[in-house]
Amino acid sequence: RPVLELVDCGKSYGNVHALRGVNLSVRQGEVTCVLGDNGAGKSTLIKIVAGLHEHSEGTMRVNGEERSFGSPRAAQALGIATVYQDLALAPLMAVWRNFFLGNEVRRGPFLDIDEMKRVAGEELTKMGIIIPDLDRPVGSLSGGQRQCIAIARAIYFGAKVVILDEPTAALGVKQSGVVLKYIVKARDAGLGVIFITHNPHHAYLVGNHFVILKLGRVVLDAHRDELDLDR
Ligand code: ADP
Ligand code: ADP
Repeated sequence: RPVLELVDCGKSYGNVHALRGVNLSVRQGEVTCVLGDNGAGKSTLIKIVAGLHEHSEGTMRVNGEERSFGSPRAAQALGIATVYQDLALAPLMAVWRNFFLGNEVRRGPFLDIDEMKRVAGEELTKMGIIIPDLDRPVGSLSGGQRQCIAIARAIYFGAKVVILDEPTAALGVKQSGVVLKYIVKARDAGLGVIFITHNPHHAYLVGNHFVILKLGRVVLDAHRDELDLDR
């Protein structure tokens, strides 16, 4: 069953219909690729699923139950996390501190600094991200590693679905490869991924499910086996 569903969702800004009649199902263990030209509604879709904007029409469901995504915190509490291109990592801060950044409340009084370092190292290693020195500022790592850390952090803090906003757009071939490999790994461990991209080749490499938006409408929604991509 889909973990996240949009049923007939729409979003208007004044009289601009940024999204109309959008139906979308996201399952755990799958990468749902969302493609579309500028102005197609990709950012708007991210914003309503991330709890930044209220949708104007339709219903959103999490695990089959109708839910309101009033704020980014509310979306996060439902297990929906967003990794933006700027990553929300603090470049001058150590890797281990970044791992907990934005989740201080959940860190709570339970972990002291040494424990935080240990947990950050263990979790990253478990997820296949090897950072030899966790005291390094995150800004000194490669763009691909930073993207992976941001995704790993979202998973550690309970995300069942992660929305990736053009995660490879600013990266070269090698760093894109690092991120795409990590997406596959997280997917195979059961994460649901919404992969927003302009790059059809990257979608082809990791996608199980493909959605194309055009002028706010879904013009294609197909699973991989329906598309004959692996012939
Ligand atoms: P994409 O991310 O695919 O480029 P957007 O979701 O940013 O698409 O935009 C979809 C449409 O909605 C565009 O016509 C855009 O100009 C319009 N739009 C987006 N945000 C706003 C806003 N805050 N106010 C008015 N129009 C908006
Ligand atoms: P993003 O892709 O992150 O939304 P943009 O540069 O496309 O960034 O847009 C910056 C902001 O302006 C966003 O909040 C977007 O929703 C808003 N916006 C986009 N198009 C329009 C528009 N036609 N009118 C008003 N606001 C818009």
